Amino acid sequence: MYHKYNAIIVGAGGAGLRAALQLSTVSDVAVLTKLYPTRSHTGTAQGGIGAALGNREEDHWEWHAFDTVKGSDYLGDQDAIDIMCRDAVEAVYDLEHMGLPFSRTPEGKIDQRRFGGHTKYEGKEPVMRSCYAADRTGHMILQTLYQQCVKNNVVFFNEYSVLDIIMSDGVCGGVIAMDIGTGELHIFHAKTVLFASGGFGKMYKVTSNAHALTGDGPAVLYRNGIPLEDMEFFQFHPTGIYKLGILITEGARGEGGILLNGTGERFMERYAPTIKDLAPRDMVSQAMHREIAEGRGVDGKDYLLLDLTHLGAEVIEEKLPDVTDFVRTYLGVDPVKEPIPVQPTAHYAMGGIPTDVDARVLADETGAVIPGLYAAGECACVSVHGANRLGTNSLVDIQVFGKRAGDHMARFVRESPLLELPSQPDAPARALLDKIWSANGGELAGAIRADLQQKMMDKASIFRDEASLKTMQEELAKLKDRYQRISLRYKGSKYNADLMETVELGYLLDLAEALVVSALARTESRGAHSRVDYPKRDDANWLKHTMAFRKDNGIELRYKPVKITRFEPKERKY
Ligand SMILES: Cc1cc2nc3c(=O)[nH]c(=O)nc-3n(C[C@H](O)[C@H](O)[C@H](O)COP(=O)(O)OP(=O)(O)OC[C@H]3O[C@@H](n4cnc5c(N)ncnc54)[C@H](O)[C@@H]3O)c2cc1C
Repeated sequence: MYHKYNAIIVGAGGAGLRAALQLSTVSDVAVLTKLYPTRSHTGTAQGGIGAALGNREEDHWEWHAFDTVKGSDYLGDQDAIDIMCRDAVEAVYDLEHMGLPFSRTPEGKIDQRRFGGHTKYEGKEPVMRSCYAADRTGHMILQTLYQQCVKNNVVFFNEYSVLDIIMSDGVCGGVIAMDIGTGELHIFHAKTVLFASGGFGKMYKVTSNAHALTGDGPAVLYRNGIPLEDMEFFQFHPTGIYKLGILITEGARGEGGILLNGTGERFMERYAPTIKDLAPRDMVSQAMHREIAEGRGVDGKDYLLLDLTHLGAEVIEEKLPDVTDFVRTYLGVDPVKEPIPVQPTAHYAMGGIPTDVDARVLADETGAVIPGLYAAGECACVSVHGANRLGTNSLVDIQVFGKRAGDHMARFVRESPLLELPSQPDAPARALLDKIWSANGGELAGAIRADLQQKMMDKASIFRDEASLKTMQEELAKLKDRYQRISLRYKGSKYNADLMETVELGYLLDLAEALVVSALARTESRGAHSRVDYPKRDDANWLKHTMAFRKDNGIELRYKPVKITRFEPKERKY
């Protein structure tokens, strides 16, 4: 089937919907999403969206920018960070005006709470900056934006999985997608395409990420010759529910919750004397890993405790209702009465599709853009998060850069003609599916995925070194070999989840490889990339972004400088 639109958006999370809304007043726009829109992962975001509104205490967007740069371990691009922190304020008021029901202060202003790494007076003490709607902030954002998109006649193709892009002479002219319900391939011919397809935490065993977060967008573009930026930086959030990885928002510590080790000690006082449990996630997760490795886990096991009991039932039930429910349901623990068993959980991809501050996708390390092609949100790397993202900054990122993507795409639609389609634009996608369909080697996608997730957890998670990464590289070669010998258990065309998961596993394998190769090359520790064999940050050699290109004979790494404006790199102390 053939469709024609001025603008196509891949993904109906916060980034995709914000862009769609922005475009909808000036252009036709269709959103393709493999999930029903309101099931996108943005809907699970709990803790809040950071913006220096100053509703509870003095705050300035420049302080927010300082914290973001420092949080990024100085790898974030400061021009993009300034834009994000400045525009965050308007982004929050935009959402309020669209009807988002924020939690309120007694005088009726948007309420704000503390979050990791967010401070006042450039690092002196924690600040209340996270705007929230109880612990359902993402859910509210997603519902609000979806309603606005429906009102503005955005067209939705729900349960369509994008498999490929259409490129012609270096310009993007649309996408190829499969209707999951029928198995049929569709050609979407367009002047401009935005990828807003989310992250890829599903390459790890213990993760806060939903089942669908398999990195489809970054992988599809990577296979089309576009590089991936800073893949070695993958964030582990300190407080996943033990064994399950389900997230307990940092808002729990923002409200006053504390972490305890097996001896009952508030150990973060030793690692970050100033802001303690509200240090950035990379530091807290690494500290937790150390506590466990040195035998101070609870009962010698690999978990620690998050204690909220001193906050009282009222605060817990009112400000953290959903996570309280999760803990009661999944662990049988009542957080009002007992501390919660927690362990770090794979959470957020700092790396992804390289873009400029208008969300235009970059073709290489020189900054050349690919006309018509855009990316925003977790799948993209602009880079505002550098080596470590601060909590609440992803919801800001998706709103600010989703909107900017929409604005720039609107201009592009006005000024550019529709490309002629190349002949048989769906041939590569068809070949990909046919190969999986006809393969008959007996290997099952589920088994390969489970091995990938366990091995990435063991060899390429919070701490890594040359030996573990080299082993992982060898393991990936074996997993990829098994992937060639896959068999589908179900060969029908309607709702073939087996087929979808096999395609997605292929994406995860490619992205894991890019992560491991990028991590192996970076012989320093910075943010979420912690090399046991190179424990220090090395600005002389590594204050630069990695760009990984997929080539016939392996992965080629190139580098580009970090944009530094107001904040010179310093030692990071909290
Ligand atoms: C449990 C949890 C809690 C979080 N809490 C916070 C928080 O409090 N504050 C904060 O700032 N950040 C938080 N984050 C991070 C933040 O929520 C996400 O990074 C952000 O919402 C991602 O938005 P997105 O629009 O980029 O992608 P998503 O919301 O993940 O949406 C991706 C979309 O892409 C579509 N898609 C994917 N692949 C395809 C394909 N092949 N074809 C078609 N469609 C496709 C999906 O259907 C979906 O609609 C949290 C994350 C998690 C997992």
